[in-house]
Parts: sequence; C-alpha cells; structure tokens
Amino acid sequence: MDIRYNVVNWVNRSGSPQRAFSYGSSYIDPRTGEIIKGVVTPGSDRHREDYLIAEGLLQPYSDGKPISTRMQEMALARIRQLSAHEIGHTLGLTHNFTASVKDRASVMDYPFPRVDMRPDGSIDLSEVYAKDIGGWDKRAIIWGYSDFANGIDENAALDAIMKETLAQGYTYIPDVGGMAHPRANQWDDGADPVAQLDKLMSIRRRLLDRFSENAIQQGQPMATIGEVLVPIYLLHRYQVEAVAKSLGGLYFTHAVKNDGQQPTAMVDPAEQWRAFDALMNTITPKALNLPETLIRKIPPRPTGYPSGIEIFNGHTGPSFDPIAAAEAAAANTLSYLLNGERAARLIEYQARDSRQPGLLAVIDKLLDKTLEGAPAYGYEGELQLLVDNLVLKYLLALAADPKNAENVRGEALVEIKGLRSWMAGRVGAGASKKNAALFFGLSQIDEFEKSPDKFVPQPALEMPPGAPIGMPGIFDAPCGNDNGAQKDF
Ligand SMILES: [Zn+2]
Repeated sequence: MDIRYNVVNWVNRSGSPQRAFSYGSSYIDPRTGEIIKGVVTPGSDRHREDYLIAEGLLQPYSDGKPISTRMQEMALARIRQLSAHEIGHTLGLTHNFTASVKDRASVMDYPFPRVDMRPDGSIDLSEVYAKDIGGWDKRAIIWGYSDFANGIDENAALDAIMKETLAQGYTYIPDVGGMAHPRANQWDDGADPVAQLDKLMSIRRRLLDRFSENAIQQGQPMATIGEVLVPIYLLHRYQVEAVAKSLGGLYFTHAVKNDGQQPTAMVDPAEQWRAFDALMNTITPKALNLPETLIRKIPPRPTGYPSGIEIFNGHTGPSFDPIAAAEAAAANTLSYLLNGERAARLIEYQARDSRQPGLLAVIDKLLDKTLEGAPAYGYEGELQLLVDNLVLKYLLALAADPKNAENVRGEALVEIKGLRSWMAGRVGAGASKKNAALFFGLSQIDEFEKSPDKFVPQPALEMPPGAPIGMPGIFDAPCGNDNGAQKDF
C-alpha cells in the first residue's frame, strides 16, 4: 500500500476458486496521467495450468523414473513471460494480440506454448515461451517514455518514432479483432494460422494415440487421466478460433489519417477456403476419436475426486464419455464457423466482391462434408452422427436467432429447407441407425419450423475452461486498476 514502492506481489491461490486472475495495475495521478506506482499480482493458477499442459505433452511418469523437471521449467517459463506482461500493464501498455504472428513481437499478447514434435515423436519445448520482451514492446516504450531535449517539437518527434515503428512492420490490435481479424487472436502462434492448426492437429493426434497412465503420477487414481487429457484433446481450441477468423475475415488496422496504414482489406478467397478445409479437418471422426486402449483406462471418479469444470462433461452418468468430449471439441469449431457476425460478413463481402465465398457456398460445403457426406460406422459413425447433429443445431440457431441479420437468417433457412427435403427423401423402412439419425434431424427441423423466432436449440456441451483464468472477456483482469483510475482492454 506504500505509494513509494513498485511491487510484484506473488499470490499462491492453491485451492478453490481455481483459475483466478493475475493483475497488473497502476496508480495514476489523475491531474497529469503520470503513473506513480505499479502493482503486479500474479496468481499461481497459471503455474498449475501450465504444469498440467506439460504433463499431457510429455506424459513423463514412466514407472521407476525420477520426476522430470521439464514440467516445472515450462511453468516457470510461462510465469516469467506473465510477469513481463503484467509489468507491461503497469507501464501503461495494453494488449497487442497480433504480436504472435510477428516473431513474438510483444509480451502483451497471450502466448500459446510453442510445442514441436521431433521426428522420433519426442516433444521439443526449447522455445515454449519467449524469454525476452519483444520488438513491439521496445517500440512502445520508446514512444511512451522518450525524453526530448529542449527545443525539440515533441509531437513531431513522436510521429517520427511511430512512422519508424510502422515501417518496421509492427501492427497493433489491442482486442481480439471482434472475431474478424485473422491475425489478432489470443493463445495462437505463428505467422500462418492454418499451418499452425495443421501442425497442432498432427501433434495432438500422435499424443492422443499414445496417451496413457504415464500422464499421471504414481498413486494417483486412474480416473485423473481425465484432467490431463483435457488440454491435449483440446490442444487446437484457440488455433481453431484464429483460423475461423479468416473466413469472412477482415484485415484491419487502427489507422489514423495519413499514417500510411491500410485501414481494411478482405481476406483472399483462396485463403478463406484453405481455412475452411483446415476447420473441417478438426471435426472428422478421425480427428475426434480416442484410442480404445485409452478409453478403457478411465474409470468413474472415486470418492474425494468429484467431477467439476476441469474435466469433460458427459451423457453417460459416472463413466467417461468419449463422444461427449468430441461434442465439446466439435461444437467449438462449429460455433466459430457458423457465427452470426461471420455469416453477415460472408454475405456482405460477396455482395461487394463476387469472388468472395459467400454464406450459401460455405454452408453447402459444410453439409457436403457432414450430413450429406459418406456415412461412417461403429465408433466413428457415432462421432459422425454427433457432428451432423451439431451442424444442424448451429444451422438452426443461425436461422432462428433474431439477433442475426435477416439476410443471414434467410440464407440459413434456404439451406435448412434443402436439407429437409434431402433428409425426407432418404428415410427408409425399419429401425435402422440411418433412420434414427434422419428422424431426429427432421424432428428438430419440424420443431424449428413451428416457431422460427422462438426456437432455441439445446446448447452443446461446453469445453472445460482453457483460458488460464476465468471467462473470456475478463480473464487476465486486464490490467485494469485497483483504484479505478485507468482501465484498458
Ligand atoms: Zn493483460
């Protein structure tokens, strides 16, 4: 509380509530705007989340071996980065969510662990988090903290610094780009979102295929494999969001007059379809399945280990439900793909430029690859059916939600009508799985058609929270301020 001291106040929040905040706050002289004191309060939850991710990545607990220090090293690397981030806030820096696409240009982005897999399948964490502040951070401090000699025109000097910063190729998007900016995202990595998603999907697959009790320590209940599985099964969750932003995406800058930045640009159509294909690869049965050997190893949770938000929900009572885990993951992709604002941009952009994909073509392709695609059987068949039902759910929601633009609702409606007749034409005789799927889909469409404005589909199962802390929009307590004098986000 002593105004004379800047403080980093380490807080151990072991125990409930999990996933609490870390803060970087400033006390500011309201007369001058001068930052008088900074207080950083990092919480230990971030450690624990990273330790858990590392356990899933490394599956390090082979029998008889000493516990590796690599999990601790990764967690500490994250805390090092987080400390710099929160201190950046105390110095007046806001988030820059485009920094990850330019060589980790800022600690003010939210970093995803950089994971590489060597050809032998081992995991390389040598670059897991940045070890230094970034180029953008240095430019921001030069701009904000330079002193100029007497006689120097300060505004002109600041303009020159900004011009140089822009010439060096730095961009600055402080929020997440409103679902629109393909390069402004939290917890993404790399310059090419699609390539990064493909890479993560491939690493994820190999990790899942060998996932075992090596992910938990000796003496732990086998059921706790479920906790460690979450961050690996959902390894791609944030990169999916980043890739979805290319579809109906808008590159933009917060340009000011005559600064030379291009204010807006649509995403190239080929890039949008590339993003679409990458998203489709996240909802195939091949992507969503878990090995039978793993499923058999996860029993119901024992007394003293209640289920909670940190593990997958299910429809099967106490037993682990692999199809419900797939529901949460696939719903993540589809909720971004069939987002109402994205749909409105797809329509608008195609109206302005006929080369753009448009909403109808996107939904047509989506239906081709799901409901109207080739049937699958067995476990993969159930996963395919799950995805089909989710596609219909999100499509109905797109048409039903009165908050969506009416042109969006109309185009969704026309696709639903087409799908309805396609399904009705395929109903056969008998109590087959095919008929069960068709009747269920048709019943959902019937329910929707009774009262489109009031229809609300059952929500899909949600993923366990992944953000190191809290809910989207408030985590990281961005940097607001204990005394309320400054709020950024
Ligand atoms: Zn922050």
